[in-house]
Amino acid sequence: MKGKVVLVGAGPGDAGLLTLKGMEMLKSCDVVVYDRLVSEEVLKLVRGEAELIYAGKNLGESQSQDAINHLLLRKALEGKLVVRLKGGDPYVFGRGEEECSFLIQRGVPCEVVPGVTSAIAAPAYAGIPVTSRWFSSGFTVVTGSKSEGSGIDLDYIPKKGTLIIMMGVSKIEEVKEALLKVRSPDTPAAIVERGTTLQQRVFACTLKDLDQCVFENGVEAPAVIVVGEVIKLRDKLWKYQ
Ligand code: SAH
Repeated sequence: MKGKVVLVGAGPGDAGLLTLKGMEMLKSCDVVVYDRLVSEEVLKLVRGEAELIYAGKNLGESQSQDAINHLLLRKALEGKLVVRLKGGDPYVFGRGEEECSFLIQRGVPCEVVPGVTSAIAAPAYAGIPVTSRWFSSGFTVVTGSKSEGSGIDLDYIPKKGTLIIMMGVSKIEEVKEALLKVRSPDTPAAIVERGTTLQQRVFACTLKDLDQCVFENGVEAPAVIVVGEVIKLRDKLWKYQ
């Protein structure tokens, strides 16, 4: 008997943002292997009989990725329906592709149920649309800390449009310096910490004050940084959230 693994996007925090298909998986699976970013609210939706396994990782622990891959493989080979539950969308900085290809190479079926990414949902809950007919014809989602440990890669920063930086808080000074090479110091910016959860905090500033804003307010991960003119729409959209 052969099981399978389903990578499920848990969404950014608010359990209401889990997809119907993701919910069905949580209600029918035998095992859930979940990450640090998955909210308590979503975990409560898992079938009571399912085995819950925490696989949170700290930055740079590449060994544990290998351990997770083998855990998923082992559970699937036992014939289990395994949900690999990840914050946001599994294929947006979630290493979902590494896990899925590892399993498929070993003959274990692996499917994906996309999730609502925090890259879009956290700004939305803060009253910031990532595009606008007036302010931005496109958006770029980029990591603030590449796997090699360095900061943002300038080749990924376009001159125009909305920039959404993930995993940027711990390298905020480097991120700011890099962005200032491409964008004006007065470009509007915002930081959304723990977006879509009850603990959500939002700070608006300009690019030149980005690091100060993080330090003064004690902003911590997970947070997305948004840079661009769309932040000006916040006054019109935020009030009723
Ligand atoms: N797969 C996830 C992203 C994983 S990378 C997704 O699609 O959302 C981890 C980064 O995601 C964090 O450093 C932070 O930048 C962002 N993030 C995740 N959840 C968040 C939340 N609730 N609010 C703000 N940022 C969040």
